[in-house]
Amino acid sequence: MTEASKSLSTVELDSLAANIKLWGRELGFQQVGITDTDTGEHSEHLRRWLDKQLHGEMSYMADREALRKDPAALHEKTLRVISLRMDYLPPNVETVKLLDHPDKAYLSRYALGRDYHKLIRKRIKTLADKIVEHTGERSQRAFVDSAPVLERAFAEKAGLGWIGKNTMLINSTMGSWFFLGELFTDLPLPIDTPQTSKHCGSCTACLDICPTKAFNGAFELDARKCISYLTIELKSSIPINLRPLIGNRVFGCDDCQIICPWNKFAKPTDEQDFKPRHGLDDADMLGLFLWTEQEFEKKTEGSAIRRIGYQRWLRNLAVGLGNSKQDNDKTAQTIAALQSRKGISDLLDEHIHWALERLDTNSSAHTPS
Ligand code: SF4
Ligand code: SF4
Repeated sequence: MTEASKSLSTVELDSLAANIKLWGRELGFQQVGITDTDTGEHSEHLRRWLDKQLHGEMSYMADREALRKDPAALHEKTLRVISLRMDYLPPNVETVKLLDHPDKAYLSRYALGRDYHKLIRKRIKTLADKIVEHTGERSQRAFVDSAPVLERAFAEKAGLGWIGKNTMLINSTMGSWFFLGELFTDLPLPIDTPQTSKHCGSCTACLDICPTKAFNGAFELDARKCISYLTIELKSSIPINLRPLIGNRVFGCDDCQIICPWNKFAKPTDEQDFKPRHGLDDADMLGLFLWTEQEFEKKTEGSAIRRIGYQRWLRNLAVGLGNSKQDNDKTAQTIAALQSRKGISDLLDEHIHWALERLDTNSSAHTPS
């Protein structure tokens, strides 16, 4: 049976906070910070963003706004948020060059290996158990990107970096290739100091590079235009005007991270779970499109990709194939593959039709007169 919670002196809380950071690092997190539950300016930013309808079909963002604003409403008695960072970029994976190979599929680098949710939640729960061992029963709950938590806001407040113009959390020694997780706790731990300023300066590289011009300006993303939203969140048809701009990005997009100068400091992860599986870091687009539904289910088991399901997987790849530029033999194979996947759903048929028309237009444009 767990010991009843004990109240701790300031000295004990200071020492516990230091231990939490140590245990966090032992559990594979690269950084741990602690902050209070005030979401002040970040909640206001969220309200303005929702008012402009920039969240598109992500109605859960608006539905759960009250919980997002107030950690204690999401998990009662919460006094502190422990924010944890885990780097995910696997060693030796290509980022930018792959975007120049339209016959290859680009998948967001976070999704190449096993799904991070389970791994990170498990480690945070282990941290929570350690805290209980030392302090007695507590009111605590672990979160990883699946509940209404303003995770970047808490990470910024906890001193893990700053929210950059691309809306990602940027760390001056690691860039932005990392996951965030949180442990809500009722412990009145000492809080960390946030960085005093953002270090984007006059740089606008992320805003300029975005293929779909999804930023309305610094710190404001119109999710409805973002390729990550279009290929992962959006369940319906991808807007026709944006399809050519998506290129070969079939699951997410990293362009506004790849270009960020702070990412030259990124260090590769040792986590086995984040290593690419099934060659997804350098996969042939046509090969992926030819996966049967059974293959999709098998190969995406335990992967973040599975959440979009087979139809949206094919939808995204159809767009990618429509954007591909290939020699005549491969184009013939691509057309045959696209034809072979007709009849699965109206949504997919419509994207296949678009891809076939586009391939036809592109090949006529390249035929010598
Ligand atoms: S993820 Fe891609 S599409 Fe979305 S904002 Fe960044 S660069 Fe633009
Ligand atoms: S690319 Fe430049 S502006 Fe964008 S987040 Fe990085 S440093 Fe900031």
